[in-house]
Amino acid sequence: MFISGHQISTYNSLPQNQYVHPLLKEAYKDWRKECKKRNVDLFWFDKNVHTISIGILPGNKIGYCYIHEGIIIIDYYLLLGEDPFFNTKLTLFHELGHCALNKRHTCSKLAIMNPERSSKQLPLYKMSWKFLLDDYFGYESICPEE
Ligand SMILES: [Zn+2]
Repeated sequence: MFISGHQISTYNSLPQNQYVHPLLKEAYKDWRKECKKRNVDLFWFDKNVHTISIGILPGNKIGYCYIHEGIIIIDYYLLLGEDPFFNTKLTLFHELGHCALNKRHTCSKLAIMNPERSSKQLPLYKMSWKFLLDDYFGYESICPEE
């Protein structure tokens, strides 16, 4: 019997070639669910990204996607701050926006792809989550300087 080495990735179960840190798993599954709803093709992303984890990032970065290495890192210190689960989720969605959806930063104040948000804004982000998601998957204004 011929067994293909080609991996079929589904949205609901995580691809077997990807390591996802346990604390990011729920958020990452949520993200895939939202992608599925909107028929986002994750084939390229699943082929290229093998690790989604938590680590210590240089400077004041809270998340980073090293696309050439196939690694997404969310900063460890988020876990020690305000609303750690929502903050890591928001940051993970932001990085996945860069790496999987090819998104750039947006200037609008309230957006997943806004690079400058303060932890004070977290409750507002949480309250507006549905709107933020539609904006994230739909149209977004790009910063004029980019
Ligand atoms: Zn960014």
